[in-house]
Amino acid sequence: MSNILGIDIGGTNICYGVVAEDGEFLYQNSIKTSTVASAEDLAAQIKKDLGKKHQVSGIGIGAPSANEISQSIEHAPNLEWGDIVPLKAIFEEEFDIDTYVVNDANAAAMGEKFYGEAQEMDNFVVITLGTGIGMGSYVNGNLIIGANGLAGELGHTVVRRNGRECNCGKFGCLETYIAKNGIVKTAKEKLEFSSGGSMLQSISPSNLSPAEIFKSARREDPVSLEVVDTVTRDLAFAISYLINILDPECVFLSGGISKNGNLLKRKTEKHLKSFVLPNLRDKASVKISSLNDKNSGILGAAAASRNKSGATA
Ligand SMILES: [Zn+2]
Repeated sequence: MSNILGIDIGGTNICYGVVAEDGEFLYQNSIKTSTVASAEDLAAQIKKDLGKKHQVSGIGIGAPSANEISQSIEHAPNLEWGDIVPLKAIFEEEFDIDTYVVNDANAAAMGEKFYGEAQEMDNFVVITLGTGIGMGSYVNGNLIIGANGLAGELGHTVVRRNGRECNCGKFGCLETYIAKNGIVKTAKEKLEFSSGGSMLQSISPSNLSPAEIFKSARREDPVSLEVVDTVTRDLAFAISYLINILDPECVFLSGGISKNGNLLKRKTEKHLKSFVLPNLRDKASVKISSLNDKNSGILGAAAASRNKSGATA
């Protein structure tokens, strides 16, 4: 028996599941992040929920701003559980089971490598699009961890000097434009300056979401189309750096916002053409992760627990 408890900690939801060796889910559940007071509280809640129903031999956790070397969450801009959260120690204390902590985007990359479409690929990038923006990459067959365990902070690369203030304390980070709140903010700004009607005006501002904006764009709502155009241009700009630097076979888009599928992919590819070096143009494909509906975060965390990722390789 080698079932693993995989946990995917996100800014909005925490999803977890018991995953068998072949990637099959034996159990799955989720908790709203805002209802969890601390990592200790999370460990206790999950343990109580699993009870004696499911025996696991390991725990893998994917979390934002997780440092694989220290096995802690460090200064996560979108979590309020303290500056340094020693996740591995907290879960091992609660469960008495070997626990491995991995950056959430690296978990997504490992999920793609072990259970998704990247099983035959040595060079690929996974970008997670949600409350925050993360990135996990394999180069020449190895997951990139970095000297300090912090590689892949794509969301906090600056795309506009003196731009929007970010939760990390800087200004103009990519995440302030293309993560969930950034997209909604752009829509609100454009609505303020639009003279004509927009489908988005029928939605109360507090209910405005990327899903609604993409839905209206598909119905040719001009303001929504403008928002999607701005978002995909910024995303393509960031991807072009990755393609120019890493020369990957494929860039997978994963996470909640990537569920906007073809429209997101098509517009991003269109903008990419003008940013990527001609030699590399059309070489790397952009794909929506096929693991999206299976919760790649949980699968990836389970894969990380089984394979202990690149930090210890
Ligand atoms: Zn930032």
